[in-house]
Amino acid sequence: MNSDNPCKDEQCGVCVRRDMNVVTDYEIQIVTYVGDYVVMTGVSPELADPMIGMLQSLGIVKIPALTLVIGYVGEDSVGDSKTTVPDEEFVRYIARHDNVDDPKGPHDMLVEELKAGTLDVSTPIPREELEEASREFYRDGLKNLDDFGL
Ligand SMILES: [Zn+2]
Repeated sequence: MNSDNPCKDEQCGVCVRRDMNVVTDYEIQIVTYVGDYVVMTGVSPELADPMIGMLQSLGIVKIPALTLVIGYVGEDSVGDSKTTVPDEEFVRYIARHDNVDDPKGPHDMLVEELKAGTLDVSTPIPREELEEASREFYRDGLKNLDDFGL
């Protein structure tokens, strides 16, 4: 998701249009392409900072919260869609949850809804709503870290 940090991994579902399923105690990244859309589960972006990442990799902090996003990518990968889909057109659904023990559950449910056409992803989420959601994630994330005494 970060073009300043080019990744050469051919298995990477962000750079290459392919599904990806990485679930460990300190890294969760699930990517599923459905037609013109991508469903992504990852660590809430506000929490994916290097310090917290380091604490997670040392097993000191578990991943406290996940973000589920549906993005519009057309025929591209997430990475390539940056040049074809304007930022404000990308996010079609966003939700946060802390079910880190079963990240596939909520993810797959969303994939099924998208495939079944029961979820309306025809319009982008307005920027103001994203910013508000982001603040919520950040506050919740900090609260979760508080629980770990950090
Ligand atoms: Zn990549």
